[in-house]
Amino acid sequence: MLCYIYKISSSKSDLVYIGSTNNKYRFSEHTSRYKLGLNNCSVVKLFDLGLEFCQYDILETFDFIDYEYQLNKEQDYQNIYKDKLVNIISAKCRMTGYEIYLKYKDAKQKYQIANKDKIALQEKARSLIYIDCSVCNKKIKQRNKGRHEKGKKHLANLP
Ligand SMILES: [Zn+2]
Repeated sequence: MLCYIYKISSSKSDLVYIGSTNNKYRFSEHTSRYKLGLNNCSVVKLFDLGLEFCQYDILETFDFIDYEYQLNKEQDYQNIYKDKLVNIISAKCRMTGYEIYLKYKDAKQKYQIANKDKIALQEKARSLIYIDCSVCNKKIKQRNKGRHEKGKKHLANLP
């Protein structure tokens, strides 16, 4: 998979936006989201000056190794343009978010493996809890509450 470091600039401004992507059509993705009013990326500052003044350049193309490598490369370019950068969230920030996510995922997996039996017991206990449905006047499993309340029988019993 190929990755791109790209720059978006405007002839109406000195500012630039630096991003990285594996999407060949990233620029049109940015602009079409913008036209729909859905782009909340900081590149909007440049688009607001007029899309017709914007220019999209690929600064580097490389093979995707991993997300960390991609973000590091993006950060290198953001450092080069640091005085003109319109980006609010730098690659480094995204990296930190990504690392936190990985750590969390890892910790969660470790917990699940270490507490396999405890979790299974909790699951089982939860499956045995019954509550009253006041609409149907009957006991239902608490874990099925959501499904029950969308079910035909329950809906038919609604006043
Ligand atoms: Zn019910």
